[in-house]
Amino acid sequence: MNQFPLLMIPGPTKIPPDVARRMCEPIIPHRSKEFSAILKDIYSNLKYVFQTKNDVFIFASSGTGAMCSALENLINNGDKVLCLESGVFGRRFEFIAKSLGADVHTMSVKVGGVISPDILEDYLSKNKTKIVTLTYSETSTGAANDVKTLCSIIKKYGAISVVDGISAIASMEFKMDEWGVDVAVAASQKGFMVPPGLSFLCAGDEALKTFKKCQTKSTYFNWEYYINTVKENSVPFTPPVTLLYGLDESLKLIQTEGIENVVLRHKNLAMYLRNSLKDNGFKLLTDDDKNASYTSTAVISENISSVKIIKLMKERYNIYIANGQLELKNKIFRIGTIGCVTKSEVEATVNALKDIFDFDNI
Ligand code: PMP
Repeated sequence: MNQFPLLMIPGPTKIPPDVARRMCEPIIPHRSKEFSAILKDIYSNLKYVFQTKNDVFIFASSGTGAMCSALENLINNGDKVLCLESGVFGRRFEFIAKSLGADVHTMSVKVGGVISPDILEDYLSKNKTKIVTLTYSETSTGAANDVKTLCSIIKKYGAISVVDGISAIASMEFKMDEWGVDVAVAASQKGFMVPPGLSFLCAGDEALKTFKKCQTKSTYFNWEYYINTVKENSVPFTPPVTLLYGLDESLKLIQTEGIENVVLRHKNLAMYLRNSLKDNGFKLLTDDDKNASYTSTAVISENISSVKIIKLMKERYNIYIANGQLELKNKIFRIGTIGCVTKSEVEATVNALKDIFDFDNI
């Protein structure tokens, strides 16, 4: 039994000790020179993580806030929006787009699957579309879309790509500028290893032009406020100072390790988990490694309710894993390998699952 709960869910993640310590520092005024110096480092390191020359905005919200911000600053009533859906989070974009009065077309895949570039190209070649939303790592199924290829097709047909990178950015390869991504969003409680409460958004040049023509912009999340304040190493509203201390520290950890090493570490860990699970007879929802997320792995729980497995994992081994969501609830369980999870923690998780299945005959 682990002394401390082992958090093996796909976010929120464990917080590295340096980040936790830093968040104990006393609050200073958010309009002070000292705080502005912290923000300067944060803004510069966020650009490094997003691999972009453009500014990255910070919102005091969970990831969904940044998803709302993305669409609220681009969509006018009646705009044609294509939502690529590979799970719960793809569907969230559809919900937001519809609430803004967009004319939404949805392209879905079977659970655990990914969007086909050919089908996307076929659709865009026949249907003039203003915005395409897509999910990088679909945390609900453990599948990862080929964002690089999909965004190049979206660009070819003159549409704006809006990428939910919430469980991918700072963990999986992401090159905003090189891949031609127009808008990307992320959140603190995933690869950034900071508690929940911050979200990030980066808008490229084409998206900023489209934003200028948006007639009904967001209020709290209006990019205008953020465009101006980032340039001054400031924030428009009172920020969660403590979380920003944590973010400053975690970005420095990522910077020191190097983003390409962070990505490789997540890939190796996810593949180790996937292989260990398969070797022990578990079936993965996203079976093909080439479509796999490196941060969320979904295991089919066969005829057993995931609730029972999750309960035993917690009671016996003090390990938290996650249930499926919506129609996948109780049918799968999900294991997170995101942030500072170690190989021995993955090993402990697989061993605990093995014990439960072998000895409990469930
Ligand atoms: N998109 C993805 C891919 C996610 O993993 C999550 C959170 N699990 C969200 C969106 C929603 O983010 P939040 O819960 O931080 O609002």
